[in-house]
Amino acid sequence: MQTHEIIKRFREHFERAGHAVVPSASLILDDPNLLFVNAGMVPFKPYFLGEAPPPWPRATSVQKCVRTPDIDEVGKTTRHNTFFQMAGNFSFGDYFKEDAIRLAWELITNPQDQGGYGFDPERIWVTVYLDDDEAIELWQKVAGLPLERIQRRGMADNFWSMGVPGPCGPCSEIYYDRGPEYGAEGGPIADESRYLEIWNLVFMQNERGAGSGKEDFPILGDLPAKSIDTGMGVERVALLLQDVDNVYETDLVRPVIQKAEELSGRKYGANEVDDVRFRVIADHARSGVLIVGDGVTPGNEARGYVLRRLLRRIIRSARLLGVTEPVLVRFAEVVRDAMGPTYPELVSGFDRIAQVLKAEEDTFLRTLESGSRIFDTAAAQVKAEGRATLPGDKAFQLHDTYGFPIDLTLEMAAEAGLSVDEDGFRKLMAEQRARAKADAAGKKTGHGDQTVYRELLELGATEFTGYTELASEATLR
Ligand code: ATP
Ligand code: MG
Ligand code: MG
Ligand code: MG
Repeated sequence: MQTHEIIKRFREHFERAGHAVVPSASLILDDPNLLFVNAGMVPFKPYFLGEAPPPWPRATSVQKCVRTPDIDEVGKTTRHNTFFQMAGNFSFGDYFKEDAIRLAWELITNPQDQGGYGFDPERIWVTVYLDDDEAIELWQKVAGLPLERIQRRGMADNFWSMGVPGPCGPCSEIYYDRGPEYGAEGGPIADESRYLEIWNLVFMQNERGAGSGKEDFPILGDLPAKSIDTGMGVERVALLLQDVDNVYETDLVRPVIQKAEELSGRKYGANEVDDVRFRVIADHARSGVLIVGDGVTPGNEARGYVLRRLLRRIIRSARLLGVTEPVLVRFAEVVRDAMGPTYPELVSGFDRIAQVLKAEEDTFLRTLESGSRIFDTAAAQVKAEGRATLPGDKAFQLHDTYGFPIDLTLEMAAEAGLSVDEDGFRKLMAEQRARAKADAAGKKTGHGDQTVYRELLELGATEFTGYTELASEATLR
């Protein structure tokens, strides 16, 4: 079943059940805690928080999502994209647990010729929050799930809150058993590669107090109006229904892998090292293009910095596959063709998207060549001396002179089997910043290249904010 069909069936199922169909919001919303929309409920937050009256009692959407904290998983696990689509149904004080469970169960297990996804009910497992006996009973009653395939999990996994005082509640996640080829028995609590999480049902029934993190806050009591927030991973359902190994091989992602094969003359599936690169390219091309499509340009502040990192990773992965010509626009065309039918802004805005990508690639290619030579020499020297850590001043030089983001140096070092003296690097960055500040306070003399210097300053100043924001983004779900 193609992704478009999966989305269509989701929408129709919930529309039949009286949900208003709401289009995806932009990836960029005015929310100080979020770099990018990372879940289907984000655009509906004001309704859940009681800040605005919900225009409908129940709604459904398929929301564009970006989760940059998952970037290191990309290509290595079978199930993490930086960009993915979350299909969801939402009740704003309308229906609650029983209907949420029933609606999800019907869609996943109804036969394909009756509008469902046709998953074998015997292969479905669920997790519930530790003391949520009500959910356990409902899974048995509504879905006929045996107790052996219902597992209890703690707060970190199965309790949801927005990170601030307000609605919160237990959740229940739905998993599909991919079979013994994919890992050990024992259900999702034992192995999340074999048991693939496809859907998360959040039961907003409590009020939480102030506190920090995912677990450290009081649960104050019941909400007067209980709500539902669910999120189903479209790409994960696609990988199962298309019987492919991972999310990168699904119908709307795979074409980028094919383009990369064409440009590189290498074959996907030939060796694992190249395969990770192919998958990184396919994933990042999608997130990169969708992010630019929503108006972000590469830069050194938070969002622009994340975008830059994604784009530069594509370019470098392509280089490692042996491609020397510019790639971003080539990949973007493929993304546009695959995703354009769902997101027309990619088609209407393509000229601008292509311009942004080309400019970024030109800039990066100029510095990559010379920087890589410096890196290789330094890495060889470190190894020749029998050490395993690239000195902080090298990382600093690569950054200062060649515009290498520290992530790039870290990645290249890891590939060369080295670590990086990050503390040393950060110390030099801080010194540099202090000097620049002092200079800026005095007369503007003494620096030949103000552009490089300014870029460095901006990057240095915002890099840490970027990480903090990423961290808070990670704690939201
Ligand atoms: P995981 O444990 O696999 O990282 P999650 O628990 O972080 O997933 P949720 O926050 O519950 O995910 O999001 C709801 C659904 O969105 C998940 O059940 C999954 O199907 C999908 N999803 C989450 N993260 C990703 C991702 N990085 N790529 C693709 N789909 C995702
Ligand atoms: Mg996750
Ligand atoms: Mg999970
Ligand atoms: Mg989950």
